[in-house]
Amino acid sequence: MTDCIFCKIVRGEIPALKVYEDSLNLAFLDINPCSLGHTIIIPKKHYQKLEEMTEEEAKELFSVIFRLTKIIPKSVGTTDCNIGINNGKFAGQEVSHLHFHIIPRFEGDNGLPMQGLVRMEVKKEDLPKIAEKIKKEIENSEVFKEKEKSEEQKKEKSEEIKESIKSFEREWQEFNLEEQDKAPNYSEARRE
Ligand code: AMP
Repeated sequence: MTDCIFCKIVRGEIPALKVYEDSLNLAFLDINPCSLGHTIIIPKKHYQKLEEMTEEEAKELFSVIFRLTKIIPKSVGTTDCNIGINNGKFAGQEVSHLHFHIIPRFEGDNGLPMQGLVRMEVKKEDLPKIAEKIKKEIENSEVFKEKEKSEEQKKEKSEEIKESIKSFEREWQEFNLEEQDKAPNYSEARRE
């Protein structure tokens, strides 16, 4: 059993103002909010960082974030919000259980945009080199190859399903034709 504070909230060992819960994810108000409605959304399973989750788990979590984004700002009387993760120690993560923040933003709240989080000196002329590096890394990594493979598998599966539906329809037609041949011809029987 982990000592993690958010795991304790999941297990009900410490209180939290929960606003949403399903079998995989949980959302509750931040105890030290930086704006009205500041909400924390976590997977119930303990991960420290986003990239540790499976893609399926990440999709479920993103789906909750997507839905809550439609609701939380509105429920506190605004339209806008920042959504983010402090993904790791260098990014400012203090609680080492993966969590999203939804931070509603208000006109004139004097807050900064996300880009205000950090200001490194990066030369504009270095940008093409950096883009090249990232693209090469994508090409060499298994991460996107897995995605392509799974999309290819999905396509094959859906072709298989389409083919089996067609073949069922053909068999059904043939069966109907055979049955029609076997059925007595009532109009002729009546005439006799
Ligand atoms: P960070 O790890 O930097 O993304 O931030 C952790 C966030 O969790 C902070 O905004 C804290 O106020 C919040 N937090 C810490 N403990 C609790 C708790 N028991 N209930 C709700 N929010 C918490």
